[in-house]
Amino acid sequence: MNEQVKKAILDKIRSYDTILVFRHKRMDGDCVGASMGLRDILRATWPEKRVWVIDSQRSEYLAFADDADPEVPDGMYARALGIVVDTANSDRISNEKYALCRELVKIDHHIPVENYGTLNWVEEDRSSACEMIAGFYASFSDTLRITRKAATFIYMGMVTDSGRFRFEGVTGETLRLAGLMLDQGVETEKLYAHLYLQDFDMLSFKAYVYEHMQRTENGVVYLYIDREMQRRFGLTFESASSAISYLESIRDCLCWLAFIEPAEGDPAIRVRVRSRFVATNGISQRFHGGGHALASGATVYSREEAMLLVDAADALLREYKQTHEGWM
Ligand code: AMP
Repeated sequence: MNEQVKKAILDKIRSYDTILVFRHKRMDGDCVGASMGLRDILRATWPEKRVWVIDSQRSEYLAFADDADPEVPDGMYARALGIVVDTANSDRISNEKYALCRELVKIDHHIPVENYGTLNWVEEDRSSACEMIAGFYASFSDTLRITRKAATFIYMGMVTDSGRFRFEGVTGETLRLAGLMLDQGVETEKLYAHLYLQDFDMLSFKAYVYEHMQRTENGVVYLYIDREMQRRFGLTFESASSAISYLESIRDCLCWLAFIEPAEGDPAIRVRVRSRFVATNGISQRFHGGGHALASGATVYSREEAMLLVDAADALLREYKQTHEGWM
């Protein structure tokens, strides 16, 4: 089934001269890696085709990797095949002009909530969209060409979305495909330096996080990062959001949450929801969000609503701990 869809996607790509690649809002390593990696594979394979990633959003953290292309006239979209990577529903696509494309292909590893493509290739068991792009290359390596840069993009997404190959969902196939990317000459030391070195100020913020994090009775750890805290540590919204990862390795605490206040005047407080062993995306869905079982996101509009979400997570952990053994 997946082999058929992949073959149909390859045929569709062959039949278009213009291909535009799209990804999701609030970009992350996986959607940047998958979009840039796919773009560069297609460019290397068919230099005569026009292949672009058009996205006006920029990420401070991924600035070293992201080289999205300048905007093109609307007429180009009408002639193009659009390929959307790593995006479960169409309203999360970062460039709204995707809708102008003649046809759309969806390539994604999230729960399939909306099949917005003419062709939809969705494998929710894959650890990243980049793993799927690597798999696409592997399936058609007699036709497709890859470059070191494309492989680096793809490897970056595989590494970041799988928590350095640590999360559930990483399989033997993940590592074989990662190996295939490494074989193209990815410079891992440089890549990891870009991804993981930390600024002095961020480490000061981290120390603050550990002093101020809260814990509920049943082991939900959470932190509310208000504007004052962001100002004090010179954080961008994005760097403040990265605090979620500081809370992930605490014994007994199976769920951790970060609430990030947006700029003045924006009422939507971002919630990053993570858990170990127990699925928490049902909670995100109840609070204007969604995502994967163990990594999802939500939006709340006040501190009171934030506490309702904390209470819901606490109740879930209480029930989980009463009915399961073996968690730590
Ligand atoms: P994040 O915490 O933003 O990295 O999100 C984790 C996962 O949850 C990602 O795979 C997102 O696709 C998904 N997600 C985050 N926010 C939302 C939302 N508001 N609606 C639906 N899915 C979301």
